[in-house]
Amino acid sequence: MINFFRKKEERQPQPIRTWKCKKCGAVVNNIEVRENHYACPHCGAYVRIHAYRRIWLLADEGSFEEWDPVMEAVNPLNFPQYELKIWEAQQSTELNEAIVTGKITMDGIPCAIGVCDARFLMSSMGHDMGEKIARLAERAAREKLPLIIFAASGGARMQEGIISLMQMAKTSEALETLKESGQLFISVLTDPTYGGVTASFATLGDIILAEPGAMIGFTGARVIQQTIGGKLPPDFQRAEYQMEHGMIDAIVSREDLRDTLIHLLRLHTESAQTIPGVHPAEKAGASGTAAASAAGLNFAKLSDAGSSSEAEKAESGGKSTRDSLSAWEHVKISRAKDRAHAQDYIDALFPDFFELHGDRFYGDDGAVIGGIATFQGTPVTVIGVQKGRNLAENRVRNFGMPNPEGYRKALRLIKEAERFHRPVITLVDTPGAYPGVGAEERGQGLAIAQNLQQLSALEVPILAVIIGEGSSGGALGLATANEVWMLENAVYSILSPEGFASILYRDAKKHEFAAEEMKMTSSDLLRLGVVERVIPEKEPVTPGNLSEVTDLMVPLIGDFLSRYGSMTGKELRAQRYERFRRF
Ligand SMILES: [Zn+2]
Repeated sequence: MINFFRKKEERQPQPIRTWKCKKCGAVVNNIEVRENHYACPHCGAYVRIHAYRRIWLLADEGSFEEWDPVMEAVNPLNFPQYELKIWEAQQSTELNEAIVTGKITMDGIPCAIGVCDARFLMSSMGHDMGEKIARLAERAAREKLPLIIFAASGGARMQEGIISLMQMAKTSEALETLKESGQLFISVLTDPTYGGVTASFATLGDIILAEPGAMIGFTGARVIQQTIGGKLPPDFQRAEYQMEHGMIDAIVSREDLRDTLIHLLRLHTESAQTIPGVHPAEKAGASGTAAASAAGLNFAKLSDAGSSSEAEKAESGGKSTRDSLSAWEHVKISRAKDRAHAQDYIDALFPDFFELHGDRFYGDDGAVIGGIATFQGTPVTVIGVQKGRNLAENRVRNFGMPNPEGYRKALRLIKEAERFHRPVITLVDTPGAYPGVGAEERGQGLAIAQNLQQLSALEVPILAVIIGEGSSGGALGLATANEVWMLENAVYSILSPEGFASILYRDAKKHEFAAEEMKMTSSDLLRLGVVERVIPEKEPVTPGNLSEVTDLMVPLIGDFLSRYGSMTGKELRAQRYERFRRF
């Protein structure tokens, strides 16, 4: 009855069944739906996929090994007719329980997998489902496998009462064991994911993906409506709504799901191997050189940075605009509409960048882009403050002024980078943190302060590059790094020259004079030791000529990663501590 893999069935000609699409009403059949990645060919609405079929769509051929295929049904409260209900569900679905678990490979990468099937009592979580998930997570931890769970659920299994409730704690606990083993957990939310499952394993993913349009929430929309009265937003609790509210990293179509999961697994399985010193096994051997390089990086390097930095050597090949322009002219260039923005650098330097969204708390700040990529084979976390180029873009990007959720998203991703031993690279370009009522209500100051403190304690290397405007604590919140670099025409200061002039000279029109006095240009900051390196710009950098600076940056970033990659977490913290302690 169970434990069969539907490969055979998929290959044999199937009888044609037709039905009406629930969303658009068009008549569809199983053949065209299957060929369209299990979506309606007319409106794209997804058809719920059976668990074994889902695994078949993802796994390398013949790689699926099922775990705990048969669980004995339990009835902890002796609930009348419950055994019969389970038996009926088993008969109609050919499943033993609402989740199928096991191990697969995808493109050769082994991983543990669990797939919920909503046909089985709405995939409600009772003892057997909780037990299978706990065993799955524990075994993945023991066997050092990353774990992917496709969640779907109406919530708790009411017939099991309080024992069902206990499954929430049990599964969460088991996932903590997985986390402690250093393994990745990807949660994929499918339609529908509700109740006790949302409030336990489903939302504990290091990365949370969702299928387009999936309904996801804790309390069902109907109950909320009855409780509060009034109208709910039109897309309330859809995956898209949840992503906008910071709960989901990315929405991935079925068509792209396998490739996306492979990409994410690869970014995590390679991480520990390619960074020499960060890997625990190699720490001992590398510590000698690491200590030497740590010592060499402190004051000696900073103090002579102004006279003979490699940036200036790199510059000698071409004439630079530095020093021939006034400070205010640098400010204008740093703010120019056609200046290259964070996303342009990410596209050029990290072509396999995968963007992750949300602070898992309140929202997804469009002013801050963050995600994972590789740089010369080393997985890195990249965070950038993004400005828009026109009004529509700036509505999304908030003119590059992050809200607290932007700083919290960055911190969440940076802490995750630390968990997986990934170095962090930030690209800073902001007129400042967003001055707004909501930002204050949600703790703008606290969000920045927490970044400063947590970043200073981080046990992986951080490189910050100021690519345009670096204004105030809003910039520093992403620049508490082991090294801070600047583009030649970027500026970095306590606040805007206009703000400075109006506070100190009570005349905002004295901004040109203020810009000079503030010592905010790259050459000033190099002299002050606030930055370690200036990346020369032959011409002010635009998306069109960006390769001129990224060509210079590539070997420099490679050098940074190898120098700091050989340091231990403790050494990295100490270096960062000294770097800012001296000011
Ligand atoms: Zn349709």
